[in-house]
Amino acid sequence: MELLTSPAAEARSFPTDFARTPFLVIWEVTRACALACVHCRADAIARRDPRELTTAEARTLIDQVVAFGTPRPLFVLTGGDPMWRKDLEDIVRYASASGLSVALTPSGTAAATRKRLAALQETGLTRIAVSLDGPDPETHDAFRRVRGSYAWTMKIIESAGDLGLPLQINTTVSRRTLPTLERMAERVGAFPLALWAVFFLVQTGRGASLDQITADECEAVLAWLADLAGRVPFGIKTTEAPHFRRVVAERDAASAWTSDGGTGQRPRGTRLPLRATRAVNDGNGFVFVDHVGDICPSGFLPAPRGNVRECRLVDIYRDDPMFRRLRDPDALEGRCGRCRYRDVCGGSRSRAYAATGNPFAEDPLCGYGG
Ligand code: SF4
Repeated sequence: MELLTSPAAEARSFPTDFARTPFLVIWEVTRACALACVHCRADAIARRDPRELTTAEARTLIDQVVAFGTPRPLFVLTGGDPMWRKDLEDIVRYASASGLSVALTPSGTAAATRKRLAALQETGLTRIAVSLDGPDPETHDAFRRVRGSYAWTMKIIESAGDLGLPLQINTTVSRRTLPTLERMAERVGAFPLALWAVFFLVQTGRGASLDQITADECEAVLAWLADLAGRVPFGIKTTEAPHFRRVVAERDAASAWTSDGGTGQRPRGTRLPLRATRAVNDGNGFVFVDHVGDICPSGFLPAPRGNVRECRLVDIYRDDPMFRRLRDPDALEGRCGRCRYRDVCGGSRSRAYAATGNPFAEDPLCGYGG
């Protein structure tokens, strides 16, 4: 999962009643990709799956996204590498003409040429997100397992700048990338960046073979990011580390946490007024459709709750029991269930699922006492 927001996006009106409408709908248009990244959630493959949604089915899916009503969700086309689909321009054009704001996450390969990005922008693409997992070619290419990926990623970034496409950079935090994070911050700061999305590893797909950082290290990274956010001109967000909101809220405790008088003794089922960004979490403001149409709470929580070929996306998102439960902070268990910040955070449901098979268990990457 990568969230795509930017100052321009924030200026738009986006859904806030997540029981009815997600903030983000992410569609994995294909699983095919020329890279073989060590952390790949999708276990991407070097060919297209014949079961992928067709162009006609893509239009039906877009109609289903539009059926959520207004304000409309952001619509993100991801992969694999979405550039493998020859009908990508048709898909973007149809989605844009239907009133959706469309973002794209191309892989760092030769397929994302300036010409093709320009054509996509022409058909309605409004933003782009690329992954950068090292501050130099050696570390990034080793992570992506393809020599030259760093150079291609730089070309995509340059093209985005030339075209005026708002740019997001996604960076993975794992034991392997932890030592390079400070240099990464300097590197991304040199780009015309709207948002740095820092993704905290979920050990699923090929990512299951990567080493996780500890909860204490995670806490230190989140504190560092909170400090950094006050100094840099671009936005910073975390993916699969919702406890960033807890870290920010703790710093802002005097003004943000008022309903419990600062005691933390909040009765279960009551909610705190928040000044912080509205919480988006797996299945809660977020829904993922995979390459064959399966509907999941997240790409990192591969527990299909229906398929867009047979069900309405709106119905699954709003009414499926797992989706409903994922939006209920009182359904959380362990430390997350006891935590005073469960409304604004709730922990990564994907990481809980990857670690225990139970999406409602505590997030093992958070050391907060609850
Ligand atoms: S214990 Fe769970 S809900 Fe509380 S801050 Fe940590 S991850 Fe979030």
